[in-house]
Amino acid sequence: LIASLEQVDQTYIMVKPDGVQRGLVGEIITRFEKKGFKLTGLKLFNCSKDLAEEHYKDLKGKSFFPKLIDYITSGPVVCMAWEGVGVVASARKLIGSTDPLQAEPGTIRGDLAVQTGRNIVHGSDSPENGKREIGLWFNEAELVHWTPAQAPWIR
Ligand code: ADP
Ligand code: MG
Repeated sequence: LIASLEQVDQTYIMVKPDGVQRGLVGEIITRFEKKGFKLTGLKLFNCSKDLAEEHYKDLKGKSFFPKLIDYITSGPVVCMAWEGVGVVASARKLIGSTDPLQAEPGTIRGDLAVQTGRNIVHGSDSPENGKREIGLWFNEAELVHWTPAQAPWIR
C-alpha cells in the first residue's frame, strides 16, 4: 500500500557514441534491468546537431559545448526510457560521477570509462528533465506502457 503511494518517475538514459563503439550497450542495459527498473523505450539512433544542442541547452555557455555536440553526434547512440520509483536519482548513482576517474568502482563510469569527454552514458538529473528528455528523443508512439506479469514463473 505504501509503495503504491510512491511517485513513479521516468528517466532518459542514453548510451553515448563511445559506449556503442566499444560494444557496451548490453552491459549498460543490464545494469538497469538487474536493478529492477522497467524499460519503456529503446532505439538505436543517429542524433542531429539540433537535437544534441537542445538536449544539452543548459550547457550552451560552457567552453566544452562544441566538443560535446561533436561527440554526441559522432555516431549512433542508444536511447532508452526507464520507469520506476526513484529511478532518476538511482540511475545517476548507477552511472556514477561525471568524471569517470572520480566515479566509484561498481558504477558504470567507474568501471568502464576514463575521460569526462568520453563517459559512455547519459542520465537525466531530475524527474522534470527525465520527462523533458524522453519527450525530446522519443515520439509518443515509440514508448511502450506495460505491466510486468504477476504470474509465478515456476509452477
Ligand atoms: P552528467 O552527464 O554527469 O550529468 P553534465 O550534465 O555536467 O554531466 O555534463 C554533460 C556532459 O558533458 C558530460 O556527461 C560530459 O560528456 C560532458 N562534459 C561535462 N563537463 C565536461 C568537461 N569539463 N569537459 C568535457 N566534457 C564535459
Ligand atoms: Mg547532466
